[in-house]
Order: sequence, then structure tokens, then C-alpha cells
Amino acid sequence: MSKVLIHPATYENVHPAVDRAFELFLVTLKGKKVLVKPNVLRASTAQESIVTNPAVLRAVVEKVETMGPASIIVGDNPGLVSYGANEESFIQTGLMEAAKGHYQNIGNDSRKVAFNAKFMTTVSVSSAVLDADIVISLPKFKTHGLTVLTGAIKNSYGILPGAQKAMLHKAAGSPERFHELIVDVFRLRVPDLFIVDAVVGMEGNGPASPDLRNIGLVLASDNAVALDSVIATMMGVESGRLRFLQKAKEAGLGNYEINSIEIIGELKRLPDFKLPPLGGEAILRNETMQTLIHSRTLLRPQADPDKCTSCGTCIDHCPVSALSMIDTIPQVDATRCIACFCCQEMCPEKAIALR
Ligand code: SF4
Ligand code: SF4
Repeated sequence: MSKVLIHPATYENVHPAVDRAFELFLVTLKGKKVLVKPNVLRASTAQESIVTNPAVLRAVVEKVETMGPASIIVGDNPGLVSYGANEESFIQTGLMEAAKGHYQNIGNDSRKVAFNAKFMTTVSVSSAVLDADIVISLPKFKTHGLTVLTGAIKNSYGILPGAQKAMLHKAAGSPERFHELIVDVFRLRVPDLFIVDAVVGMEGNGPASPDLRNIGLVLASDNAVALDSVIATMMGVESGRLRFLQKAKEAGLGNYEINSIEIIGELKRLPDFKLPPLGGEAILRNETMQTLIHSRTLLRPQADPDKCTSCGTCIDHCPVSALSMIDTIPQVDATRCIACFCCQEMCPEKAIALR
């Protein structure tokens, strides 16, 4: 039976909840490579509650540091608005400071893995995720216009660097297929422990809604399906109605029925919780979001011949081998490029722009 911890917390006092999570879901970290992945949707202030609060990240990092890991990496690949602004997103949200020197831009190095060919035959996953012995996911308690909630399963969408998130959004085409897709991404590397920042949650039309909700809790589990089911219940949604939970259950990732979950703490429905419309119509109807998704899939790098010295650094660092030198200037194969910004970041001459 999966367990879910529901523990009171404030941002001034998160440590007891984090300690309890590690106590309950015994994860041995000694000598292990640990990746801690907060939800860093985009550059924003901590007060906007769009991302995992720095107090939660700091408490987790401090706990992990005491457990003798071989290494700690704190990283995420921000979403559509802020990809390519990895460092900036961490700085602005306060997560850089909370990472205590363990931050790494995990978007700079990725490897291709096989994926569900219905969407794409391969995707590139951050190498830091693939190489970690232990992945600790730190979702935020938030609503989401396409998946109703963005909790433990959806937080794994950030293991994909660059524009792949936009490309997959497009490849999915419908909310139904998107629900299947996020489960497929989640399965690429199921995290070992989830600690959810539900101190201040988000309601309304998330994942970047101004409607915040003081909840005063930290939730934790080692099973994402059970945890998301608890989040759904708190939001007043019958978890069996969420297609991504149905699909996760079908894939053998866990059970969402509340009576099959051991609740440690008090599970209460949040009164009058504001939900986005069920079924993903919110995002499908949102023209700005659709335009953004579309435009993000079109960006490709272009080298400036006046600045480029033909050093080949960009070609060596492209994770999907999308660049080749043609007449002393690197050229991109647009069908391969995932717009991860690595080439732009690595170019010593700052010769690359994304157009
Ligand atoms: S060409 Fe540049 S932006 Fe495109 S995938 Fe390669 S490194 Fe990333
Ligand atoms: S890294 Fe920059 S300077 Fe070097 S080949 Fe690529 S574009 Fe040209």
C-alpha cells in the first residue's frame, strides 16, 4: 500500500516536514549521485508561487547534505516562457541561493532515449537526470489548465531540455493525448521521492495563476500516483476522473483510489477550491498559449558569419547532432534541432542567435 505524508509546514519552519518525509520513505543517499528537481516553470518571484518555494528546496538540500551523498545537483529545465533562461529563472525565484552552490544548468547536456513513437521516436533527456542514482522531485501544489493539476507526475516534464516540451505539446494535439504523453515522460525516469510544496498553493487557471491559496502543508510520498491522487482529492476532484492518473495506473505506476492509500496525517478537501475547467479546454482555448507553443517550436540557431571563427564548439556540444560545418559556417538540420540553446551558450564568440 502506498503511503502519503501530509504534514503541517510554514516557509519559516519546513524542516520537520522534510525530516519526516525522509524518515518515512527511507532513501539511502550515502555515496549516491543525487539530483534534486524543483518545479521551475519560469523566471518569477517566489511570492508569485509559480515555482517550488526556495524554503522547501533549501530544507531538502540541507537534509541531503547531511546524508553523505557523493554529489548533489539541483536543476530543472524551465517551461515555454523561460527555456534558455535557466540560470536567470533560478536567480529570480531565489532558488539559486537555496541550492547552496549545487545548482547546475541541466539543459546543457542531454542524451537521446527511445520514446513513444506516437509522439516522437526519441526525446533528449538531461544527462544529470539519467546519471543520477537518486532523483528527488519537488513539485508545487498547483492547478493546470491542461491536466487540472500539476503535481508529482507533471513535474517530470522538466527533465526535457529545450523546445521539446513545446514540440511534444504540438505532437500531442489534444488534452487526451497530452495526458498519455506526460505519463510516458514520467516513466523515462521515475523519481525516488517526491516532496510537494503545498505551503502556499495555486488555484484557478494555473500553472501561472494569480489565485494563491494558503494551505500550510508539505506532502510527500515515494509514489507519484498516490500523491497526485491526494492532491486531486484536496482540490475536490475525484482522482479517477483524471486521465493521466488512469493512464499511470494502467502503466502499473500505482493506484489512485484513496482507500488504497495509507494517509499519514489529515486529508481534508480545501473548501471552495477554484479549479480550471476539466478536460484541458482552458489551454486549448487560450490563443496566447497556443501561439507561444507554436512559435517555440519554430526557433532555430543561426550563426553570424561575421563573428563565427569556425571553431566547431557548437557542433561538438549539440546533444542531437543537428549541426554540421558547411563552408566554414555551422548549419542546422531543423528537423533534428530541439532548440535547447546549448550551441548558443557554448559559442565563445557569441555568434549564435535563435531565429
Ligand atoms: S542545434 Fe543548437 S539549439 Fe539545436 S539542438 Fe543542437 S545545440 Fe540545441
Ligand atoms: S561555436 Fe560559435 S564560433 Fe564556434 S563554430 Fe560555432 S558558431 Fe562558430
